[in-house]
Amino acid sequence: MSVSEAVRPALKTPPVAQPDLFSGKPSLVGMSRETMATALREKGVPEKQVKMRIAQIWHWLYIRGVSDFDAMTNVAKDMREMLKQHFTIARPEVVEEQISNDGTRKWLLRFPARGAGRPVEVETVYIPEEGRGTLCISSQVGCSLTCSFCHTGTQRLVRNLTAEEILGQLLLARDRLGDFPGVDAPVNAFIPSGDRKVTNIVMMGMGEPLYNFDNVKTALLIATDGDGLSLSKRRVTLSTSGVVPEIYRTGEEIGVMLAISLHAVRDELRDMLVPINKKYPLAELLEACRKYPSLSNARRITFEYVMLKDVNDSLEDAKLLVQLLKGIPAKINLIPFNPWPGTNYQCSDWATIEKFADFVNQAGYASPIRTPRGRDILAACGQLKSESERMRKTERLAFEAMMIAGHGEDD
Ligand code: SAH
Ligand code: SF4
Repeated sequence: MSVSEAVRPALKTPPVAQPDLFSGKPSLVGMSRETMATALREKGVPEKQVKMRIAQIWHWLYIRGVSDFDAMTNVAKDMREMLKQHFTIARPEVVEEQISNDGTRKWLLRFPARGAGRPVEVETVYIPEEGRGTLCISSQVGCSLTCSFCHTGTQRLVRNLTAEEILGQLLLARDRLGDFPGVDAPVNAFIPSGDRKVTNIVMMGMGEPLYNFDNVKTALLIATDGDGLSLSKRRVTLSTSGVVPEIYRTGEEIGVMLAISLHAVRDELRDMLVPINKKYPLAELLEACRKYPSLSNARRITFEYVMLKDVNDSLEDAKLLVQLLKGIPAKINLIPFNPWPGTNYQCSDWATIEKFADFVNQAGYASPIRTPRGRDILAACGQLKSESERMRKTERLAFEAMMIAGHGEDD
């Protein structure tokens, strides 16, 4: 981080106008090759060209990062016109971009309505660290689960994000960070000094990714496709509260790294903190973890454990935790609780967290304490969406006024 970045207060930048938000056309972003082939055939692309066209489109979308058909210079003009007429490759609309004084960035993104619904908003967070840049992606708008310590859990599920919208978060972040080769960052983008762009992704934003399995799978397979975005599956982590059947499917069908929101080592307590535990109790959850494919010391499951004062932070809990994880290649990620308005929980004292960490460490588990990032812009774990929820009413009025007036926000 440069000195000027270190002292810069949290910044908000004006919205970036995006075209095509309400076009209603299907997006080529997030389509698997098979789906794209069908879509092109339906629009009359001759069979012998389909494979070549897909390769071209894939290259422009995922290697060059274009969001305008006219930039696809090796695609014949009439083909570009046809694509323009029937499809979109537009990015999500950036409602707000915030930059924390620790360099974390948070984007509030708006996606068009699907069916009879309204446009929706989600948050995506970028966390630059020494030698890596992690993008925290949302999978749903809100969450249908109700983990008692999580702010997202107090907000109802609005809808699943599509594969396009999940991938759109990655493409948008790479745009804003100037992270596509040969494409300049927008003039008002803030680029971290050094080489920290998107090297890792974590499905740890809003929502339960395994309750939106098909879309998450399609998006992650494209993000890790070697001919495009090419993220290594070892650098992609999916975090789940414990949807056991889909953990098996994740191992078989996606093959990315797994993180489990454990947070408690006894069923009675976990039933309260992570209510999906009533459906899939600890024994079943840990059995699925044991069977996760290709586990080794180099490919370990991350167990997330939020430190809640006088709730789950005793040495007895630490002992049980170590016993429970016996035999599973695991690392334990201790997360200091991030408070939000109205919560009844408190974060454990620092000394208690350290004692807990020491115990688990001595038992042979790497147990980093996760430094909360971007707290000043409410970007830390479990805080997502809170600010935009607060703004919702005024924003809705502004949005409706804009629709009635029939012109964009930057007018
Ligand atoms: N739904 C998924 C992924 C999103 S939550 C899941 O539950 O795993 C990402 C992580 O943040 C989870 O481990 C979650 O339990 C944790 N978390 C939620 N609220 C938090 C809070 N207020 N403070 C700290 N961590 C929190
Ligand atoms: Fe949903 Fe995860 Fe929050 Fe639980 S912790 S309410 S599963 S987002």
